[in-house]
Amino acid sequence: MLNCSQVARSIASDEYRTGGLLYRMSIRLHLAMCRQCSRYFRQIRALGSVLREVGDEFPISQALAARDRLLARLSRKP
Ligand SMILES: [Zn+2]
Repeated sequence: MLNCSQVARSIASDEYRTGGLLYRMSIRLHLAMCRQCSRYFRQIRALGSVLREVGDEFPISQALAARDRLLARLSRKP
């Protein structure tokens, strides 16, 4: 069973995507049982989504809008 540190490192890096099926399933199992890691996983996904929307350009108005969207997504209930 993976511990919280291993899961947090994995979902914040490419390990989660590049790991094998069994590895991803063990992370999913941990996320299903661990509220903190599940919340962290949602935050990382929300951050990635906002950063993809912003793209390479980063004018301040878009940065502020992205920040607001990120905060709104993080405050949503699961
Ligand atoms: Zn955990």
